Amino acid sequence: NVSVVLFTADLRLHDHPPLRAALDGSRQVVPLFVHDSGVADAGFAVPNRAAFLADCLGDLDAGLRARGGRLVVRSGDVVREVRAVAAETDADEVHMASDVSAYAHRREERLRAALEAEGRRLHVHDTVTTAVAPGAVTPAGSGHFAVFTPYFRRWSQQRLRPPLDAPRSVDVPGGVGSEPPPARRAVTGISPGLARGGETDGRKRLTAWLDGAVGDYADRHDDLAGDATSRLSPHLHFGTLSPVEIVHRARRAGGAGADAFVRQLAWRDFHRQVLAARPDAAGADYRGHDDRWRREPEAHDEIEAWREGRTGYPVVDAAMRQLRHEGWMHNRGRLLTASFLAKTLYVDWRVGAAHFLSLLVDGDLANNQLNWQWVAGTGTDSRPNRVLNPVLQGRRYDPDGAYVRRWVPELAEVPGPAVHEPWKLGPERAALDYPEPLVDLAEGLARFRRARERG
Ligand code: FAD
Repeated sequence: NVSVVLFTADLRLHDHPPLRAALDGSRQVVPLFVHDSGVADAGFAVPNRAAFLADCLGDLDAGLRARGGRLVVRSGDVVREVRAVAAETDADEVHMASDVSAYAHRREERLRAALEAEGRRLHVHDTVTTAVAPGAVTPAGSGHFAVFTPYFRRWSQQRLRPPLDAPRSVDVPGGVGSEPPPARRAVTGISPGLARGGETDGRKRLTAWLDGAVGDYADRHDDLAGDATSRLSPHLHFGTLSPVEIVHRARRAGGAGADAFVRQLAWRDFHRQVLAARPDAAGADYRGHDDRWRREPEAHDEIEAWREGRTGYPVVDAAMRQLRHEGWMHNRGRLLTASFLAKTLYVDWRVGAAHFLSLLVDGDLANNQLNWQWVAGTGTDSRPNRVLNPVLQGRRYDPDGAYVRRWVPELAEVPGPAVHEPWKLGPERAALDYPEPLVDLAEGLARFRRARERG
């Protein structure tokens, strides 16, 4: 008998419960990836993620070939393609990972209905894309946690299943039609500093991280210039690494840094359990606020200046340019640029979230939308009216100004922390080709407070 394994956000061979279940239950397995037209139509297949995905699929195919198999790649409606492959191979089962978005729920329902109508079974596996499954821990009397600390307490007490080894061999039936896996070089418009994708790279990066820099993570994770975070986020987004395996290995590494790192992985599961319970929170304010946000066209010039990194606030501009150049941004940069857009400029968080998703290689519905809501004060943050001052943020998290000088060449000659307030420089200010501040911070703050009082 034959099983199909539908790969989605789990592009790996190590610790892959759907693949393991298929191999245990069937003689032959069809590892399948579908370039889902639904994902492309929703605008998610942006160049940076398409390029990283191409790397991941190439690597997955290579890993399968090294084990005697191959990856089958199709394009189109995911349900139609899975049905077609199942019919071509006379498969009786399809295995896949569970996921949390409204789209993923619909995809699962459609697949189940279509397959069952043909006498085939769909098996959906948890703890493939999260360490703890959404819904596995719930507060008394409600479907999901809205506060992180109690969630984290319960999350930490969960016994994780042991990670699974990669299979030794995979026997794929012959004659199944496949497109060649896409190549990164065929994708245009990608960020010049984009990271490389694929399980092989992800595993190397994880091992290096746990052997080294994780030790300093608790102290240095907010150091913008130090760049002392794991950069594993795209690997987690595409599932080239398994959250279960990462948590096991980080706990084994031990220490304050590894503990702090595991806590961030719990934040990832936290947002996933919120989105699983409240799929509408991808687009609608979680708290049901009625903010009268500014949007296009009213705030067009300010939104453009923010997108392009020329707000006149150096640390904001540095972070926005890092995003464009690398398709990735430091978490502290995400926090302060999001606060600047939503609170200082009082622009709808969805405008900012969409810009992030158009560039982030780790751009992820749960993490992006719910972190944006957190910063905008419409989400689960218990201090929804906090506003991050970009000058203070710069002085605190880029104390020497090295991050600004790295990303804003117009300011590269300004020494030390003075780079955070170019308007205070003497006559040399006139020679800098760098804009004046877009808004007065006190005015921005007053506007936000007035708006929140009205709301
Ligand atoms: P590390 O600091 O090494 O953390 C390890 C892992 O923990 C990350 O890879 C990530 O999977 C998880 N993690 C860390 N911080 C968070 C967090 N606040 N929420 C949820 N999970 C977290 N993360 C994304 O993966 N995709 C996004 O689209 C995304 N959008 C964001 C938008 C905003 C406005 C903000 C404030 C944060 C966003 N984050 C997003 C969360 C966080 O900024 C990134 O996960 C992190 O910067 C990735 O870098 P890293 O892998 O080096 O993180």
